[in-house]
Amino acid sequence: MVHEPEATQWPTAREWLAQLSESKFALISTALEVVAWQRDHRFCGRCGHAAERIGGEFAMQCPHCGHRNYPRISPCIITLVTCGEDLLLARSPRFPPGRYSTLAGFIEPGETAEDAVHREIYEEVGLTVRNLSYYRSQAWPFPHSLMLGFFAEAATRRIRIDGVEIADAAWYTPRRLPQLPPPYSISRALIEAHLKRYS
Ligand SMILES: [Zn+2]
Repeated sequence: MVHEPEATQWPTAREWLAQLSESKFALISTALEVVAWQRDHRFCGRCGHAAERIGGEFAMQCPHCGHRNYPRISPCIITLVTCGEDLLLARSPRFPPGRYSTLAGFIEPGETAEDAVHREIYEEVGLTVRNLSYYRSQAWPFPHSLMLGFFAEAATRRIRIDGVEIADAAWYTPRRLPQLPPPYSISRALIEAHLKRYS
C-alpha cells in the first residue's frame, strides 16, 4: 500500500481561509503571494540571470543587469450589479456546481477601475451600468489579485451571456438566492451588504 505524502494532508489555502478568523486573512494572503512570487520570479525577466533576494523588503535583484522585481499584484474589479432589490449573479465554468457570484475581471493596461467595471460587465453579460459606487478592496491570493469592489445599477434587465468567461447568469431576488460564494470573499460581502439594505 502506498502512503500519501504528508504534504497532501496540509489544508489548502481556501480551507485555511474558511476556518480561520478574518483577522488572519491578511497574514495568509501575504504568505501565499510572497511564496508564489519567490517561486515564479527566480530569474531576471530582462536578461535571464538568476535573481537574488534583497534583505529588508520584498524585492529580487539581478546581479547582472541590476533589474529589480517585486511581488506581482494584479488589480481586478469585482462588481455586484443590481436592479432595485434584485441581484445579477453569474457562474464561471470553473466554479463548484451550483455556485453563483458577482462579476469580476482583471483591469487592463491603461484602464481605470471604473473603465474596467463597464467593460467587463458589458463583455460578460451585455449590460450597461450606471451609478457606480466603490465598496472596499480585498487581497485575493489566488494567485495575486487585489479585488476592488463596486456596486453598479443596471440600465436594463436584459442580459446576454458571453458563454466563455460566464457559463450562466440570472437575476435573483433576495428571497430566492442560489449557492453563494464563501463568507471570507469580497463577493459574498458585496452580496450581504446589498441584502442588508433590503432586509
Ligand atoms: Zn538581469
